[in-house]
Amino acid sequence: RELPADPDTANIPRQVTGAAFSRVDPTPVPEPAVVAVSDDVASMLGVSASAPDFAQVFSGNARWTGMTGYAMAYGGHQFGHWAGQLGDGRAIGLGEVLTERHGRQELQLKGAGRTPYSRGADGRAVLRSSIREFLCSEAMHHLGIPTTRALSLVTTGEAVVRDVMYDGHPAPEPGAIVCRVAPSFIRFGSFELPSSRGDTGLLRQWVDFTLPMHFPEAAALPAEAGYAAFFAEVCERTAVLMAHWMRVGFVHGVMNTDNMSILGLTIDYGPYGWIDDFDPDWTPNTTDRTHRRYRFGQQPQVGYWNLQRLAQALSPLFADVAPLQAGLNRYVETFEATDAAFSAAKLGLARQMPGDEDMVSDLRGLLRAGGMDMTLFYRDLATLDLASPHVDSVAAAFYEDAGRAAVEEPLSAWLRRYAARVRADESAEEARLSLMHASNPRYVLRNYLAQQAIDRAEQGDDSGIRELLDTLRRPYEEQPGREHLAGRRPDWARERVGCSM
Ligand code: AMP
Ligand code: MG
Ligand code: MG
Repeated sequence: RELPADPDTANIPRQVTGAAFSRVDPTPVPEPAVVAVSDDVASMLGVSASAPDFAQVFSGNARWTGMTGYAMAYGGHQFGHWAGQLGDGRAIGLGEVLTERHGRQELQLKGAGRTPYSRGADGRAVLRSSIREFLCSEAMHHLGIPTTRALSLVTTGEAVVRDVMYDGHPAPEPGAIVCRVAPSFIRFGSFELPSSRGDTGLLRQWVDFTLPMHFPEAAALPAEAGYAAFFAEVCERTAVLMAHWMRVGFVHGVMNTDNMSILGLTIDYGPYGWIDDFDPDWTPNTTDRTHRRYRFGQQPQVGYWNLQRLAQALSPLFADVAPLQAGLNRYVETFEATDAAFSAAKLGLARQMPGDEDMVSDLRGLLRAGGMDMTLFYRDLATLDLASPHVDSVAAAFYEDAGRAAVEEPLSAWLRRYAARVRADESAEEARLSLMHASNPRYVLRNYLAQQAIDRAEQGDDSGIRELLDTLRRPYEEQPGREHLAGRRPDWARERVGCSM
């Protein structure tokens, strides 16, 4: 259902009913300048970063032939409450590229100006949050975690006012635009919005569009069976995604249903953060410090809650809720199996044996009690001498002597138990180490590393961004000369606060 764009009203905020998206052009910016490009994404798309009009196109000032602007309509549950129509308030689609090897890839400019969905806001994004999105989407991809990608990061030459204060006043910050790339940006909230309005016709149209495009196996089944297969697959993908986040210590920070991709991609890098010391209660989101709804250890439960909202939204298409319940059960089974498999792989265990689950949960208890760095612990565990296991092998993971003192004895015992378990596994040493090295990254985008790159970029020095982008392309490899990017969070960076806007 398409309404012709009216240039006078195209980006006036309003309730848009009976439509899945609105035609809207990016609002031009004064002085676009390219800060960074992901060469991997550029080559996937067949786009040349040295095209003379690259900065103009990826700031929204110009369009290549075939590009057309649109903003998607979606709603969402924010922090547990239905929030109505939400977006896209600042992301403007440009169209799709049909790539040779990676299928259909949609391009979207985040921060490209107001749309009908902008509500009271300006449709813009600031440089610091754009750097965080650009770097983290690429880092996640190279960790092997499903995610939206980022092609480019462009500054606009325009000042944007956000929540950063200077002398008690909001301080203007440099504006920026990231070009995000994904096979689709459809969210749980895309289905929730028409469903909440009782528009079952549009809801069905959404599903009938989505299935052949992105879920061909489900699309081949008769209507209701196809819908059930679709929901089950969304559940499965979401479960795998949650297991990945737990595997690497990623905390999304704002898992509202409008930030949940139906393709099971990590989407919307806002106040996300990485676990340094292993604390399941930690959240990077300063607006969520009371209830900690989106804390690290809670993410798998939130994934389930969000899928329940999607099930509810899809329910008008089903005569009976049994298939939706079956999908939710699939989520639980898939998460448990994937989490167990990932946990075993992190320990270098080729097989799973009875007792492994207890060993893993005991370890998590020790990591927490000792305040140990998750990334360093797992990576360094591979250096353990199995013949005479000692806590010294993982000493670099301790933030404080008191933490080490608190767990020295039980951790020693755990390491001996682990060494015995490894022997029982009977897999070759080389295979075990390569499994561990492929499961436990050396390099993750710790919050303070992103912040250092941001501070330098705001002074006009982009080298920090390039160094991180390059390092995080090979997170599982030791990179001599890059040790400064692999250490514990320094003391000064203890208050690990993400940034949201
Ligand atoms: P988020 O919490 O980041 O998922 O944002 C929720 C909704 O608010 C999304 O639909 C965004 O598109 C919209 N939004 C966030 N920031 C802005 C902004 N600066 N201008 C317009 N819309 C925004
Ligand atoms: Mg969002
Ligand atoms: Mg956001």
